[in-house]
Amino acid sequence: MFEVQELLLNFLFLIIFLLFMPIIFELHSSNFSTRKRFWTNNLLTSLAILSCISFPIPIMDGYIFDLRLVALTIGGLYGGISSILILGGVTVIFRLTVGGLGAAATIIVVLLFVILLMIMSHRFIHSPKNKKVMYSSVLSLSAAVIALLNSTIIFGASFSVLFSFLYIMITLCATAVLVYLYEFFNESILIKKQMITAEKMQIVSHLASSVVHEVKNPLTVVKGFLQLILLDDIPASKRKEYLKTSILEIDRANEIIADYLMFAKPASENIKVLNIKEEVQRTLNLISPLANMNNVIVETNLNDFYFRGDEQLIRQCLLNITKNCIEAMPNAGMLRIDTRRMNNDLLLTISDTGQGMTKEQIARLGEPYFTTKGSNGTGLGMMVAINIIESMNASLHVESEINKGTTFNICIPCVYVETSSILQE
Ligand code: ADP
Ligand code: MG
Repeated sequence: MFEVQELLLNFLFLIIFLLFMPIIFELHSSNFSTRKRFWTNNLLTSLAILSCISFPIPIMDGYIFDLRLVALTIGGLYGGISSILILGGVTVIFRLTVGGLGAAATIIVVLLFVILLMIMSHRFIHSPKNKKVMYSSVLSLSAAVIALLNSTIIFGASFSVLFSFLYIMITLCATAVLVYLYEFFNESILIKKQMITAEKMQIVSHLASSVVHEVKNPLTVVKGFLQLILLDDIPASKRKEYLKTSILEIDRANEIIADYLMFAKPASENIKVLNIKEEVQRTLNLISPLANMNNVIVETNLNDFYFRGDEQLIRQCLLNITKNCIEAMPNAGMLRIDTRRMNNDLLLTISDTGQGMTKEQIARLGEPYFTTKGSNGTGLGMMVAINIIESMNASLHVESEINKGTTFNICIPCVYVETSSILQE
């Protein structure tokens, strides 16, 4: 009587539409607006409800049982009151198209259940993980009980005790398992995002002193020139030259501050077409004070290649890698950055002549908290850089030799653009 296969198939639908797909969306579309999130949740839950109703567990004439109420519970609770109303409507419409005696029963069950969900939805969203699991399980348990009572009392259907028990237990367990797993994965995604911010803040504070240093120099120069201009016996041509130099110095200081602020501001997450040459140069503006302090010479050979990415993220990635390179050369060295075309990709090569890494160290790059710098390191820089590289569908290959240096090869998919269209952007 009780078709386990169909039940497992129902559970599979719920896993696909309510667990896997939302997590994949969450991982790959962090720039989703609240509205897009709302509609994605409604669409995926509707698909889960439709699939459950389409592959039900036939019980008796006209009655079908499935896990649609579990989908309604989870999608509704995470989506909020509007989602509960929409998904309730969707459930009734789907069930009516299948027909049978149970269709009328569904309307009553969904109506009662929607009211219950609406009462609980606010409390659910603001609860910690364990309470969310508890609330959703209790709610879907009530849904199962309402469905059974409704069919029995109002429509005179009779179900065996074994069936009723299994139906209630499976509904309860499916909800608890799904909500627990969803919360668990979401928590991991959140921790990953927080790590990126933590590393960024660390770099922001590291860079602050060198940026201040770099801005102080032009200010001293400008002050000197202004003092000279103040002197009475300065010829007009010299005066003009001093003013021009002062303006150039102020521009330079301004650029350093602008780049620093751009980097320090919270992520805005917007993907657009970027020029690798500009991005590398901006990164170098920020990192050059640090390079100067270590007597590191920077050499570049850059081309105007275009790719798609988020400018703040790519700068953070380049900064993390170049900062490591410079730190690997405490007593002078050379940092080289080149770009080359390789089929449809652009190959960005960043190399240093520093202390290098062993094979074991290369293998551990990107592992959270792996650092050889003791309390001076966070061990998050490479993890963040690798995450950013992966999010651009790019790849990283590292070669290193102890005491010779390290080379980072980053292969990024190129976009072909007319130079004129870039200028218009
Ligand atoms: P941190 O810089 O805070 O130590 P990272 O994640 O940026 O953390 O780097 C992890 C480790 O990888 C570093 O501690 C260092 O041992 C090694 N590493 C990264 N880049 C280089 C490099 N260019 N040369 C030598 N070692 C490097
Ligand atoms: Mg680092």
